[in-house]
Amino acid sequence: MFPESINNLIESFKYLPGIGEKTAERFAFSILELDDDQVEIFRESLNDVKEKVHKCSICNSLTENDICNICSNNFRDSSKLFVVEDVKSVFTFEKLGMYDGKYHVLNGLISPLDGINPEDIGLDKLIDRIHNEKFNELIFAFKPSIEGETTSLYIKKILSDLDIKITRLASGVPIGADMEYIDSLTLERALNDRKEIE
Ligand code: ZN
Repeated sequence: MFPESINNLIESFKYLPGIGEKTAERFAFSILELDDDQVEIFRESLNDVKEKVHKCSICNSLTENDICNICSNNFRDSSKLFVVEDVKSVFTFEKLGMYDGKYHVLNGLISPLDGINPEDIGLDKLIDRIHNEKFNELIFAFKPSIEGETTSLYIKKILSDLDIKITRLASGVPIGADMEYIDSLTLERALNDRKEIE
């Protein structure tokens, strides 16, 4: 129906989550209406995020440098480590501005039913880091789920010989909820009321 290049653009927009045919068409036609300069900025941004952004070598969060802004910030509390299941969670908590410690991003959570085992989520790097840096407290900030529970208990077991306080966010975060959609008050309360894992 459309010229081929418009069709290709529509198909590209459909790679994005939540974008169906109608929205993709609307986006494609909006691009046609942009100035050449705006399209150039758009094109460069797409290239840049893929070329320049990569994982921080310490915490796995996203950065354009070898080490991210959080890891390289000496004013942050280096006695606390927030362990999260994905990089989006780092930005969710950073936006709230209620936590001043360090982060570590896992590559998801352990889920034996889905064939995701401890070695698949990058636990070695986390455990090495905990042994090398002297954290007083480890805070698990996974979304409430069986997988979050399994992962928390697994890490706690591995670290049982270490003198480190291990806590998790308090309940109040709804089961299965996506962290980024939870309101800031709920998250703040969940952090302040965090509980030690028995
Ligand atoms: Zn980092």
